[in-house]
Amino acid sequence: MPTLTRFKETRIRKRCGIVLLPALAVLLSLTSASHSCRHREGAFAAYQEATESIRKRGLQEEGAYEILKKITAPGPRLTGSPQAARAVEITLQLMLDLGLDSVHAETVAVNQWVRGEFEEAAVISGPGETTPLSISALGGSVGTPAQGITAPVFEVTSLDELRSTGGGAEGKIVFFNGPMDRKLADPFAAYGRAADQRVRGAVEGAKAGAAAVLVRSLTMRIDGFPHTGLMLYDPAVAQIPAAAVSTEDAEMLHRMLLENPSLLVRLRLSCRMLEPVTSANVVGDIKGTDFPDQIILLGGHLDSWDLGTGAHDDGAGCAHALEALRLLGEAGLKPRRTIRAVMFMDEEFGGTGGRFYARAEERRGEKHLVAFESDRGGFSPLAIAIGGGPGCLKKLRAYAPLFKPLGIREIIPGGGGVDIAPLIESGTVPAGVILDPQRYFDYHHSARDVASAVHPRELELGAIALAVGAFILAQEGI
Ligand SMILES: [Zn+2]
Repeated sequence: MPTLTRFKETRIRKRCGIVLLPALAVLLSLTSASHSCRHREGAFAAYQEATESIRKRGLQEEGAYEILKKITAPGPRLTGSPQAARAVEITLQLMLDLGLDSVHAETVAVNQWVRGEFEEAAVISGPGETTPLSISALGGSVGTPAQGITAPVFEVTSLDELRSTGGGAEGKIVFFNGPMDRKLADPFAAYGRAADQRVRGAVEGAKAGAAAVLVRSLTMRIDGFPHTGLMLYDPAVAQIPAAAVSTEDAEMLHRMLLENPSLLVRLRLSCRMLEPVTSANVVGDIKGTDFPDQIILLGGHLDSWDLGTGAHDDGAGCAHALEALRLLGEAGLKPRRTIRAVMFMDEEFGGTGGRFYARAEERRGEKHLVAFESDRGGFSPLAIAIGGGPGCLKKLRAYAPLFKPLGIREIIPGGGGVDIAPLIESGTVPAGVILDPQRYFDYHHSARDVASAVHPRELELGAIALAVGAFILAQEGI
């Protein structure tokens, strides 16, 4: 290729990010390139105007927080519960009130686990010497006999440690006391490394002959709140009860065991699994003007754990998506492709809503280009993540300056989540807003996760960022 041509192409690529051109068509292509540049510059100015209008309205009105209050109003929305069913009704009405298109519910069959009438635990150090423990059954756990399980305690800090002890846990309550690693800057990484104790602890405990397991709560805070979450059984292994213990009481139990290794713990749980019930995902659109069957999806999950009201997890994600559509509608913006909010059901008990959505009859003829999932709370946005390779990243990075006034410093590779995973498997590009992660696990799956723990402006900034990102992608495609 002649040097001059290469030089011109390089300049074009730098300015517009367009694809390389055949040598003989250089002049023609230069004309079209400058047209493309003008398009990009014109589009940038239009998006900038739209972004400013959305930002001003959002920060002035804080609509995301109003939506969050409505979604959390029924209380805890455990999958299959009456409160989750109420949240479906409320969300349908919210979408209708926002004037969204094609508002509807899509049914999902879900499991229903209930905590039951009682759950309690206590340390028995000697005759008449009992100290209560702040505990909460893990989601999916079987209960104990009515009189409870009273047994000595076998403390370990990981599944590996239990496996390598070579006995000693038979008939005991295994106490998994491995903390989240405070030395890691990313709490999600620390959570990922410690969560196997909660998810797999009962299976490994049962293999070691244990009667039950207690798991240190997955938070870096030292406080009195137990943090629940999903645990799994293995059909080939006996099912034993499992509960989380607050970090404060985990440390206390550790100290008490050092002084008195033969102390006993009594655990009583009434939780149990009921028959599956019918629930629903809730869907609403701003229909695309040019390509209505091409979808940019914004998703959160309606269900929550039952100790708080699931405000950060994931009322915030639902509020993000709905507020983004409200802001686009209020700004009078008409996306070329459909922008859709999906409130998924049952993320916490295994992601059945996401799987049902991806294979539902309604998906026929639809092409999901990009799916944003917001399921990391309602904190300040720091970055936008997009998957799909360098081309997708480059496309969004061309508009990075539009996100700067929202505090978003970079566009990075990434995106994904439980609810959109089945779509990603079939080729949809994942995306997300990366939020400040430092406080998320202070609240996650605990009684502290309530609306007052969410900051209205931080929540709103996430919704604005989603609105801007979704609108650009709806106009430009991917
Ligand atoms: Zn969640």
